[in-house]
Amino acid sequence: MSGFVSLVGAGPGDPGLLTLAGRDRLAAAAVIVYDRLVNEELLRHAGPAAELIYAGKSPAGQVMTQEEINELLVANGRAGKRVVRLKGGDPFVFGRGGEEALALAAAGVPFEVVPGVTAAIAAPAYAGVPVTHRGLASSFAVVTGHEDDAKVASSVDWAGLATAVDTIVVLMGGAALAGVARALIAGGRVPATAAVSVEWGTLTRQRSVAAPLAAIASAVKEAGLGTPLLSVIGDVATLHDQIGWFESRPLFGKRVLVTRTREQASDLADGLRREGAIPVELPTLALVPVAADDALEAMSGALEAGSYDWCLLTSANAVECLLAYFERSGRDVRAFGPTRLAALGSTTAAALTRNGLRAALVPAEFRSSGLLAAFGPEDIAGKRLLLPRAADGEPSLVAGLRERGAAVDEVVLYASRPPAAADPEALRLIRAGEIDIATFASSSSVRNLAALLGEDFRRLSAATIACIGPVTARTAREHGLEVAVEPAEHTIPALVAALAARFETRPPA
Ligand code: SAH
Repeated sequence: MSGFVSLVGAGPGDPGLLTLAGRDRLAAAAVIVYDRLVNEELLRHAGPAAELIYAGKSPAGQVMTQEEINELLVANGRAGKRVVRLKGGDPFVFGRGGEEALALAAAGVPFEVVPGVTAAIAAPAYAGVPVTHRGLASSFAVVTGHEDDAKVASSVDWAGLATAVDTIVVLMGGAALAGVARALIAGGRVPATAAVSVEWGTLTRQRSVAAPLAAIASAVKEAGLGTPLLSVIGDVATLHDQIGWFESRPLFGKRVLVTRTREQASDLADGLRREGAIPVELPTLALVPVAADDALEAMSGALEAGSYDWCLLTSANAVECLLAYFERSGRDVRAFGPTRLAALGSTTAAALTRNGLRAALVPAEFRSSGLLAAFGPEDIAGKRLLLPRAADGEPSLVAGLRERGAAVDEVVLYASRPPAAADPEALRLIRAGEIDIATFASSSSVRNLAALLGEDFRRLSAATIACIGPVTARTAREHGLEVAVEPAEHTIPALVAALAARFETRPPA
């Protein structure tokens, strides 16, 4: 059987700019060959068994030659594998995707091209520069220079280009820019023409500078912009000041520490990124299942037999753990039988909804006391309650339920432990005091981070501390942190919104 190779555009950097087709191909691939400019975030769309091969070319040395990459694609295709060749931006815009397609065609390996959002258009867009604009530009060209940035590419007819199109997008580093500007001016382009250079366009580390064409190279140098860098030259660049929307986002460029588990971090990280932040993930918790199978089996059997009036779910993890056991033991959600479900917090309720289950009770107040208060007296006295929970759950809940006449069975499903290894880069940023905001979504994440950092935990007092709710905030204060942000609603989206509101710097209307 012959394999199949997809040449997929990864987009310019922002992980949200991958196409749906690209995501599908990544999920189905057995082998993924990716480049240096591809955001590694995207690899989270890969299946767990996919083989990931880095083919990145660094400016210093080639990791793999183009010839070797071509051979790799052909060999894997011939071996019957589904291969994704993931390339920055669009594969056919200065991406050498054409050469790879030719090699595959010559070898008779079937392939397709999944276009991507090219940096040539997206990076200017994220800097507030439309490449065409009514009245300002009705044509644009995309050019690139030599691999060697210091020389101006002789393959481009700069003099011819200078006045032939309205907007010129130059893909190459700053070193070549002075020569390009000179060549364009020599070709007749007005030296005062507006220009904007963008480094790491579409990523939350994006930086841009604006200057007239004659001065853009020195402005780039002065601002210390490095690669990847592109420049957009033409009257459209004057719009940068008015519609540069991305770099003016409330959390733009701020490093935000995300301390949730690896599995849970992505919704918070995505939300932060949408507000312009740079998430720094340092999981302080790893969830480990602790319940023995015979305990789970007994509990599931009792649920099925209708032994409980209520099942109390205090976290999304509890829901997932329970359903995972149902599945593993050949059951499904019907194992809950007529048992009514109570969910602590909207995130827990959402985990139920995702699985086609509806909570009969969702207290508005996130704390256990809220759950206790939400039950009517007739719901508790003389009733049988099941509480599948975390090892470090709040003891007050069970005590309160028993006090009101309920018979409560507890099953400890999972425990949260400090993870085995910590990301060295995240630790470095904390120690260097380069974290602007630290977020905590549970008390144990505060405790574990304090244990992990020791003395260095104090470094975080210079950061803005954001906690999801009062219990977590109390723990943070007990550890000497001053809590600046605590959303009224205790959810991840509310936490992100509260942070954004705090840093919003809208000019007064
Ligand atoms: N196929 C890619 C371009 C590859 S050429 C695409 O369609 O986007 C690589 C050059 O693209 C870099 O040297 C830089 O000039 C530019 N580039 C790529 N990503 C960029 C980004 N995020 N910001 C600014 N320039 C970028």
